[in-house]
Amino acid sequence: MIRVTVITDKLGRPLQDLRISVIDRCNFRCTYCMPKEIFGRDFVFMPREQLLSFEEIERLAAIFIDLGVKKIRLTGGEPLLRRDLPVLIEKLMSIEGLEDIGLTTNGSLLGHMAEKLKKAGLKRVNVSLDALDENLFKSINDSGVGPDRVLKGIQKAKEVGLEVKVNMVVKKGMNDKEVVPMAKYFKEQGITLRYIEFMDVGQSNGWDFSSVVTKKEIFEQLSQHFDMVPVDPDYIGEVAKRYQYVGSRTEVGFITSVSESFCSTCTRARIAADGKMYTCLFAENGFDFKALLRSDKSDVEVRNEIIKIWNNRTDRYSDERTEESARTKKKIEMSYIGG
Ligand code: SAM
Ligand code: SF4
Ligand code: SF4
Repeated sequence: MIRVTVITDKLGRPLQDLRISVIDRCNFRCTYCMPKEIFGRDFVFMPREQLLSFEEIERLAAIFIDLGVKKIRLTGGEPLLRRDLPVLIEKLMSIEGLEDIGLTTNGSLLGHMAEKLKKAGLKRVNVSLDALDENLFKSINDSGVGPDRVLKGIQKAKEVGLEVKVNMVVKKGMNDKEVVPMAKYFKEQGITLRYIEFMDVGQSNGWDFSSVVTKKEIFEQLSQHFDMVPVDPDYIGEVAKRYQYVGSRTEVGFITSVSESFCSTCTRARIAADGKMYTCLFAENGFDFKALLRSDKSDVEVRNEIIKIWNNRTDRYSDERTEESARTKKKIEMSYIGG
């Protein structure tokens, strides 16, 4: 394929990153993401044939890379539940032009999988962990998994040479007491910890502004224990605001989707497990690429469709969020689109 010039949306933002959700299922039921009252035993997940196959993902990814995507992140649901995931990673890594591939996981299966993932070519993994306190963590993931299993997964990932970052969603009254213990633990381990502001994704997590712990509040807590200096972003559009602990090389970061939105530099497209493309985490509707891939459309036709969608993109939900839009706007679920 011939590389076209970088495509931009209506606000001048280039298409540079692609997040692919490989599965909508998860072995956790985090109360802020897949609460059991909604994602219970009767919940109907996608049947296997609705998921994009590895061949379809590879074909679509190659077209996106040809259009300027440099980084791919695999997510879910829980991506490590997707059978043979390392095979997909190997396929993606072989596409010319892709610079980086990452994975976001709850870490529960990382101990078993880390070596295979590394061998397949994965370089980086983001592990979600919301508390170190055993009972609290179990009550958040609502699946009986303790933090030890995730910490062992992190340890294994480090041992095999994967770069590890830890993500912690902070929700008022849920785990704000864990902000400092988590910082102390991961500073000691030399692992970057990133605090994520609780967001109003989906329809099922009962979000409101009062449940958000902002970067400012977290920073104030941390400042009582650590000296931190800001670190310049590595590239335009870097999502986390980064700091370094003084006297250490370890960093800590903040993903401030609510208190300091970053839509003006949002270069991310998302593909859900059923092949729908979304141009915003808070979108209501997606574009059905599975249907296109399973029709007789050529790569050029698929690519033209992506260009059309991206050229028309105007999304800036977080910049415009209000109490009213957070409550009333219809949005897709985080476990479906993958964050
Ligand atoms: N299951 C994997 C995991 O937990 O890492 C990947 C998918 S999960 C949807 C991706 C990330 O989204 C996780 O770090 C999770 O904590 C975060 N997340 C889920 N719901 C969220 C919310 N309402 N606000 C902020 N982050 C959220
Ligand atoms: Fe599963 Fe990740 Fe959602 Fe937790 S945050 S329920 S681990 S998809
Ligand atoms: Fe990007 Fe939408 Fe998030 Fe803004 S709200 S940063 S456009 S995903």
